[in-house]
Amino acid sequence: MPLAEIIAGKCQDCQYQEMDNYDELLPYPQKIGLTAKGENVLTAYEKLEFEKRWPEWARHFENCIQCFACRKVCPMCYCTECIASKNEPRLIPQSVGGKQNTVWQITRIMHLAGRCIDCGECERVCPAKLPLRRLTLKMRQIVNDYYKYVPGLDPRQDLFWSSYSKKDPEYLIFKPEEK
Ligand code: SF4
Ligand code: SF4
Ligand code: SF4
Repeated sequence: MPLAEIIAGKCQDCQYQEMDNYDELLPYPQKIGLTAKGENVLTAYEKLEFEKRWPEWARHFENCIQCFACRKVCPMCYCTECIASKNEPRLIPQSVGGKQNTVWQITRIMHLAGRCIDCGECERVCPAKLPLRRLTLKMRQIVNDYYKYVPGLDPRQDLFWSSYSKKDPEYLIFKPEEK
């Protein structure tokens, strides 16, 4: 059976099959590469017309049951008290519903900006089958495009959230035309 048929999707999409830093590198039977399934999950999604994207996400967010498995499995979600559990003040609506779920998931993705290592576990464990990796990959792409930072790639690089330069763009907050 071809390896590409049994290996996890996130491994097929992995852009870092050749690394500089590792403890031990196991022999890889074949180089699968970015395009083993035809294209990267994000590239395929971005072919969807812009106007059709939000209705699709609204449908996905409707299905979320706020089980927080995506947060629990995430190696970068290690807060002692998650914002979704805070009661005073309650920042994330506790009831389940399309709008409330959207607030929760967008908050989570924003918190993972510059931290998400694209392990894909949040998507794997989601019982509602939300395609969460599209969101996390997009956020990784934005952070890399604007700030030249890829979480987990270079241990010598200053952490994204704890470093500041006057030259940093503010695109995550303002659109360029609003500056
Ligand atoms: S794992 Fe899925 S269903 Fe559970 S909170 Fe996360 S997105 Fe919602
Ligand atoms: S893909 Fe990113 S957000 Fe999802 S579990 Fe892994 S580190 Fe967390
Ligand atoms: S979603 Fe945000 S507040 Fe909650 S554990 Fe993750 S990083 Fe912390």
